[in-house]
Amino acid sequence: MRKFQLFIDGQFQDGAGTFESVNPASEQPWAIMPNADAAVVDKAVRSAHRAFTSGPWSKLTATQRGKLLYRLGDLLAQNAPAIAEIETLDTGKIIRETAHQISYIAEYFRYFAGLADKHSGIHLPIDKADMEVWLRREPIGVVAAIIPWNSQLFLTAVKLGPALAAGCTVVLKASEDAAGPLLEFARLFNEAGFPPGVVNVVTGLGAECGAALTSHPLVSRIAFTGGPEAARHILRNSANNLAATSLELGGKSPIVVFDDAELESTSNAIVAGIFAAAGQSCVAGSRLVVHRKMKDALLERLAAKARAIKIGDPLDPKTEVGPLGTLRQRNTIEAIVAQSLTAGAKLVCGGERPAHMKAGYYYAPTILDCSGVNAPAAEHELFGPVLSVLPFSTEEEAVQIANDTRYGLACGVFTQNLARGHRVAAGIRSGVAWLNTYRAISPMAPFGGFGLSGYGREGGAESIHDYTRTKAVWLRTSDDPIPDPFVMR
Ligand code: NAD
Repeated sequence: MRKFQLFIDGQFQDGAGTFESVNPASEQPWAIMPNADAAVVDKAVRSAHRAFTSGPWSKLTATQRGKLLYRLGDLLAQNAPAIAEIETLDTGKIIRETAHQISYIAEYFRYFAGLADKHSGIHLPIDKADMEVWLRREPIGVVAAIIPWNSQLFLTAVKLGPALAAGCTVVLKASEDAAGPLLEFARLFNEAGFPPGVVNVVTGLGAECGAALTSHPLVSRIAFTGGPEAARHILRNSANNLAATSLELGGKSPIVVFDDAELESTSNAIVAGIFAAAGQSCVAGSRLVVHRKMKDALLERLAAKARAIKIGDPLDPKTEVGPLGTLRQRNTIEAIVAQSLTAGAKLVCGGERPAHMKAGYYYAPTILDCSGVNAPAAEHELFGPVLSVLPFSTEEEAVQIANDTRYGLACGVFTQNLARGHRVAAGIRSGVAWLNTYRAISPMAPFGGFGLSGYGREGGAESIHDYTRTKAVWLRTSDDPIPDPFVMR
């Protein structure tokens, strides 16, 4: 079995014990992971704090930091095939996507590298003739970045990129479900030339390693991606250090299809939204809100596409849908689909484990017609390849159904009437709206949610500010003595 180590203070080292990581395609352990307990986490945070306050990193110019980040992007692109293979083995995500996604993520590091010396404070036109005031943007300090098991390099880049560009130091916590990709990625920090302690990578249980990290007194900023349940714990943990926190959580995102939508392109986007990555994507378009006139034709086409999907070994480049990431996940999905069928939802396709896969946490692409039914599948985030179909008759009703959720991460709107597309996208409460497309990302575009999908935005030029604090620097320019010291000026 492959053995991984933690990366602390620029060195690979063992943790406090180990645990096994299971390959979801074979259901067999494939790697031994190091476990970071509270004492190990403390060591990592102290290393990051030393690097922030007194190490060579604290003396680098923003331009020098940008050059290191750019080099990291280049190294990631070169090492993408190796890291992608580890991600596929550890998470079951298909190699076709991991390889492509990781190479693209290099662009995120290059983007934030460019931003490092292009964000700045300002000079204020202050209302006092004998004073000058500047706002300095200073790095906030040690960042705890908590990563879930899916899309790890993407979710890391949108935290690490702006944090390092701003001058912070970071302790990354990889998910205990699949820590391999980030522990492998850690190899690139020394090669890129980052001083020890600037980035540390640990892993372990959320309740132990994650809790120790997010409540650590030397942590000033928490950037979390995961589910709402863990987010609640993290907010409680952060009561200890009052760290500024951003939460990127799950979703129950609607894809709204009007009766003038172009059928083939729309169905491909829906497939991308719910069946790509076996639906294990925070932005999964898991609710299809479709015009009644369009429903039958669209479902017929979608069911044909769903049945034709190549389910198989995620390491095979021809595979389109691999296994789910964990057994826990498949158990949840099976239970919720069964409850939805009992509640009256109709199975259009799927709803079972694919017969030809003898091992692995596989689940067939599934469509549930939830017309007129209160189906749990249409309410809960399943994090799997299950599409719930909800019909509408009017634009108003479409928006109302789309907003009938406590989440608000993403939405898709399909129509050839652009005015209507804009109206509906504006009416849906979500942080991302895709018009006539779905599941597109870019380093330039901010990403984040409303409601149970969390708060804060990642990506885009503004995100660097979330890793800084402003300091107002006052300078008195008059040579006269300071007047009446008992009056605030
Ligand atoms: P999870 O919430 O179970 O775990 C995420 C991370 O939090 C893990 O590293 C875990 O160890 C850690 N954690 C858990 N409990 C903790 C605690 N008490 N203190 C500190 N850390 C703790 O999520 P998951 O199952 O790994 O990932 C799936 C979830 O992530 C889904 O809800 C999905 O929608 C969401 N997600 C959101 C986005 C986004 O950008 N909005 C992207 C991907 C995934």
